Amino acid sequence: MLLTKEFTFDAAHFLTKYHGKCENLHGHTYKLQVTIEGKPDHEDMIMDFIELKDFVNKKVVDKLDHSSLNDTFDNPSVEVMVVWMWDQLKDLPKANAKLHEIKLWETATSFVTYAGN
Ligand SMILES: [Zn+2]
Repeated sequence: MLLTKEFTFDAAHFLTKYHGKCENLHGHTYKLQVTIEGKPDHEDMIMDFIELKDFVNKKVVDKLDHSSLNDTFDNPSVEVMVVWMWDQLKDLPKANAKLHEIKLWETATSFVTYAGN
């Protein structure tokens, strides 16, 4: 069974290996979708949504929200960011669940999907 929670955060960036509009400083409202996989536990939950929210906020969202992404990443493309996010989130605080997939939207119609490989 899969369980998903969505997050949004605002951040500024510029791309350092790209020539075009996005090489200039600008901002996005990013959407993040974290999906975990597992079996419901004795409380009939894979993971409490509040516990998942707190975990993702602490490990990822709080570190990036209202930040300049270039302080964290050399070249903050969504491809680079999602690999870092996977690393931050892969050790879930629940033995019955594991990270399944992360989706990260840079705009309403542009996103990347990553499953750890
Ligand atoms: Zn951009």
